Amino acid sequence: MIQLLTYVVGFALAAQAFIGLGYLVSSIWEKEKRASWFGALQFVGMLMVLLIYIMLASSGYFTTPRGAALLIVISTLAAGAAYFFMRRTPPNERALKGAQGHVVSGVKRYDERKVVFARNHLVPGSSEYERFYNEYPDLRERDEERRKRGHVLGKYGFVDTPHEKANVAIMLAMRYFCANTCKPEHLEPPQAPYLNGHKESVTPIEAAIKVKGIAKHLGACMVGITRIDSRWVYSHRGTIWKRKYDHGDTGWSKWGREIELEYPYAIVVAEEMDRKLVDSAPHTPVFIESIYNYSKGAYITTQLAAAIANMGYRAKAQHIQEYDVLLPPLAQDAGLGEVSRMGYLLTKKYGPRVRLSAVVTDWPMQVDKPKDIGVENFCSICKKCATCCPSKSISEDRHPSEHNGSIRWKINGDTCFEYWGKVGTDCCICMKVCPWAHARTWPHKIIVWLISRNKYAGMLFSYMDDIFYGRKPKPKAPPVWAVFRKTTDNRQRKPVASTTASGQD
Ligand code: SF4
Ligand code: SF4
Repeated sequence: MIQLLTYVVGFALAAQAFIGLGYLVSSIWEKEKRASWFGALQFVGMLMVLLIYIMLASSGYFTTPRGAALLIVISTLAAGAAYFFMRRTPPNERALKGAQGHVVSGVKRYDERKVVFARNHLVPGSSEYERFYNEYPDLRERDEERRKRGHVLGKYGFVDTPHEKANVAIMLAMRYFCANTCKPEHLEPPQAPYLNGHKESVTPIEAAIKVKGIAKHLGACMVGITRIDSRWVYSHRGTIWKRKYDHGDTGWSKWGREIELEYPYAIVVAEEMDRKLVDSAPHTPVFIESIYNYSKGAYITTQLAAAIANMGYRAKAQHIQEYDVLLPPLAQDAGLGEVSRMGYLLTKKYGPRVRLSAVVTDWPMQVDKPKDIGVENFCSICKKCATCCPSKSISEDRHPSEHNGSIRWKINGDTCFEYWGKVGTDCCICMKVCPWAHARTWPHKIIVWLISRNKYAGMLFSYMDDIFYGRKPKPKAPPVWAVFRKTTDNRQRKPVASTTASGQD
């Protein structure tokens, strides 16, 4: 019996050391300096414990009464700790019901005109401008002050001035495709004429398999399907891009229109954002990646909507050109992840490093179920995004509270946007510092698996992330093609010193 226990404990220690080595290699590969040092310390410690154990075992110490007692105590404690951190703790019932599970009273549908981006598009002196601020007078003074301060997103790449030009050029190019090919008039493709009103007969399961397959083939990393909860449909059209469409409509004719969505299903699509570009936040490389993925979402959903129309059903793409729906709650309902403290969707596979888009349709299809992946518990301890947010736009409250009838952490979109205006990028510091954003190497996969099932593991790894990566991780150098210093010298790959540890200025 003691001999068997000796082997089991030895095997467990060797497995731990192996995981420690895996973590060290992973940190070096991720170019995480601090985590590499701590990983090395941890691995050496584990290795020493293993060596001492092997020496004691081979000397026959564990066959003596004192050694056997020690072995039994150590193995009982280790088994207890493993059980404590690996067992499934009671699930978060709210998360299992999706966004609906967070609703505690009447939710007023959100007016898209109130979104800070939409307000930023309003032209002072225009009839839309006066109409809007007469309806929402409390926002007038605030917006006028911001405009006076010049803190509206306009000076692209300002944080990297004067060497941002190449990256701003790339960022604008990333928008070119979706601005010119996925225009609002292409959002809702007409049914193919050869169908003569006929709808292809496909079972809901087959339909779900097909749309998921098409979206993934087009480049989506995650796809989920949900019935649309009308509470997550905007009440009025707000964001209008200021440019002429092909047919001469500036888009303003749609502005302020009530939105009544007749489609019962949403196919929500996520595209992964490149970790190396995100790690440079708030500098220009992350802006390239954000816009690239908005465009990619437009490409995927425009084609997917066309494919559905060709099957005889109605469909409308939802992407950066025009949204009818709020994507994070729909993505949560579609089982892609959970909405986090910072308002982004956290997914199990990519954390917050995803951009969302969707297709809404009347094609009946099998829906997915919302999932509890442990986000609410983890966020209640972690708060790293709130600590690092330079504009203090993220709530530091331990628990989410009621806002417009729904339990969540509320973001201050105005102050966040103002910071975007200061740096001239979409910041993304919160996305970068989030412990869920790490590369999914196998040691990180084990950690995510643990924190998704056990709330104590969530607490433990939240504290460990601060130790291994720092409470305020610094921006990291992007790949060489996205450096934002003078590109005449490719050895200069470090970010400019325009930001402090957390990207604050
Ligand atoms: S994007 Fe930047 S400013 Fe906005 S909430 Fe995140 S960290 Fe704060
Ligand atoms: S940084 Fe922490 S608190 Fe913020 S979203 Fe990520 S896990 Fe939640």
